[in-house]
Amino acid sequence: MPETPVLERVLFSEEQLAERVAALGREISADYKGKQPLFVGILRGCIMFYADLLRNISVDCTMDFMCLSSYSGTSSTGEVRTMLDLRESIKGRHVVIVEDIVDTGLTLHYLMNNLKTRGAASIEICCLLDKPANRKAEVHPKYVGFSVENEFVIGYGLDYNELYRNLPYIGVFKK
Ligand code: 5GP
Repeated sequence: MPETPVLERVLFSEEQLAERVAALGREISADYKGKQPLFVGILRGCIMFYADLLRNISVDCTMDFMCLSSYSGTSSTGEVRTMLDLRESIKGRHVVIVEDIVDTGLTLHYLMNNLKTRGAASIEICCLLDKPANRKAEVHPKYVGFSVENEFVIGYGLDYNELYRNLPYIGVFKK
């Protein structure tokens, strides 16, 4: 548990997360047989999910990362800044974006438009959590771990002011 009581309730336990992530890994592995996919993790929220998902991928694959951040104060406009870009070209590659949570969809909408100009063979989104109630931009994640209500969640990579990413489970943040 965190040092301070910040959780309203646990939403997904370690066991539930492990089971669902393993199932996603199996599904993606079956879909990408022989395609040598490139898994692009979106830092920093993806870290736990990415590490666990990739351990459940049984096809040859490569890894790369991006770090995106919304311009402070203007995130609702969908203006996103690339803090860290991919190291390798994605030309001709089958790309799977690995993201912690899709909320408004603005971040991934920007990212999809950006990556589409780089000549990938295919681009799909895999997100651990989907919060469809809050959508402002069209995004269609092909692989979704869990759908969640419009509540602020923390843990398993997800932060509140950079804290609580280390929790091994996901919980609802106490306001
Ligand atoms: P979007 O652009 O889809 O609104 O959200 C992008 C980012 O906002 C996510 O990758 C995540 O970092 C953050 N975010 C959205 N909802 C939540 C939430 O419930 N909890 C936390 N910790 N971060 C969130």
